[in-house]
Amino acid sequence: QCVAVCPVGALSEEDSTWRVVEALADPEKVVVVQTAPATRVALGEAFGLEPGTVVTGEMVAALRRLGFNYVFDTDFAADLTIMEEGTELLGRLDKYLAGEEVALPILTSCCPAWVNFIESQYHELIDIPSSARSPQQMFGAVAKTYFAEKLEIPREKLVVVSIMPCLAKKFEASREEFSVEGNPDVDIVLSTRELAHLIKRANLNLKELEKEEYDNPLGISTGAGLIFGVTGGVLEAALRTSYEIKTGKTLEKIEFEQVRGFDGLRVASVDLGGITLNVGLAHGLGNARDLLDEIKDGNPRNLHAIEVMACPGGCIGGAGQPYHHGDVNVLKKRTASIYSEEKNLTLRKSHENPAVKELYETYLGKPMSEKAHHLLHTHYSKKEKY
Ligand code: SF4
Repeated sequence: QCVAVCPVGALSEEDSTWRVVEALADPEKVVVVQTAPATRVALGEAFGLEPGTVVTGEMVAALRRLGFNYVFDTDFAADLTIMEEGTELLGRLDKYLAGEEVALPILTSCCPAWVNFIESQYHELIDIPSSARSPQQMFGAVAKTYFAEKLEIPREKLVVVSIMPCLAKKFEASREEFSVEGNPDVDIVLSTRELAHLIKRANLNLKELEKEEYDNPLGISTGAGLIFGVTGGVLEAALRTSYEIKTGKTLEKIEFEQVRGFDGLRVASVDLGGITLNVGLAHGLGNARDLLDEIKDGNPRNLHAIEVMACPGGCIGGAGQPYHHGDVNVLKKRTASIYSEEKNLTLRKSHENPAVKELYETYLGKPMSEKAHHLLHTHYSKKEKY
């Protein structure tokens, strides 16, 4: 068994590849896979490619060769996260501006190591994270309901596998609140390294595979979903959508350079159509602790929204990625690739994702609807330790 240390020091990595092999060999099961944004700029390193080489199409092709019935993209669910989290942010902000009591700053909640950290160490701040589930868990909930219904199969027949840069995602998928009568929304989580092992065991050479596209509809995504993989990306994606929804205007410049960068703790002020939004960003739990202590001490910088990623650089530096041995240049190369890929995409705002729009029109109603709340949101509880 392979053991690696997780960002909160409480989890260990278990090899889950055998469970995937079993599921793929079961003729009774339909097996779908989702791939997180950060995996595509790191998987190639396990096959001798330069750090940051983008292998999205080759990874999709490899997953099809391995036998997955549908190859989908967590970026789709990241867009969905923005629809829910952005709506929640605007709702809290409106109340705040109207002078009502409201929990601010809102904290992003897509990093499970960070959620574990706040649940176990900052009980007094337990009410401020967004209630939006992480993209991994939104994907699982949508796959086991909306997509299973499209296929006209019961949820028990569908197996959802995640390819994540992250070890804490394994723990997240096992949380009780993310299952229905014992059937989890996400069945199996593999790290990027485990996927590389699977591909090698199948005698596939990633470098020689022809690029292939994700399946529809849960493989359709925008650049906003892709930048979830880097520090600052979640907040930038939320700002793009919040600005356009709040003002009804199209952004002249889509990049929010103020929130980009590699400093461990950053703050910025952003104009949200006449309202100044103060945002804070931290990557690495030491920096997150400094930011949370500041909020506990009365939020002197009047921050309205905070993004925290437990790993250095965000998910591109996750503990499930090919080892980078502390080399910051590797992290910077992965980051640069995410941004350059994103720049070339036609769709770059979550609210323009046609598959997300269709999901709302035909299934969920609107962001924060009762159904959306049931499937896409969660709650947090004070824990002594994990
Ligand atoms: Fe996982 Fe690290 Fe990303 Fe958090 S920042 S979701 S711990 S890879």
